[in-house]
Amino acid sequence: MSQESLAIKEIWQKNSITLGIKWSDNQEFLYDVRTLRALCPCAGCQAQRPANELLEQVRPKTITSVGSYALKIDFNDGHNTGIYSFEFLKDLGEQQKKQG
Ligand SMILES: [Zn+2]
Repeated sequence: MSQESLAIKEIWQKNSITLGIKWSDNQEFLYDVRTLRALCPCAGCQAQRPANELLEQVRPKTITSVGSYALKIDFNDGHNTGIYSFEFLKDLGEQQKKQG
């Protein structure tokens, strides 16, 4: 597994709950923002997972890159401490693809 130059070429909001990411290896994956929120890797969410009612309403407000290795998503529920590494996002996309 190579760590070199995993990067995002393009990121777009397909609709209110779907993000698209095109990776440096030209693979494209779609991400459900509710899934991303549910899988938030921050310590707070690791300790206590967000409730399902909240997840139904959740939308990203802003998405910013953190260095060249991660994305930070500011959600409309006020949560913005989740840092999603490219590696995490890429793996997630690949898993979802396998599951169809
Ligand atoms: Zn979190």
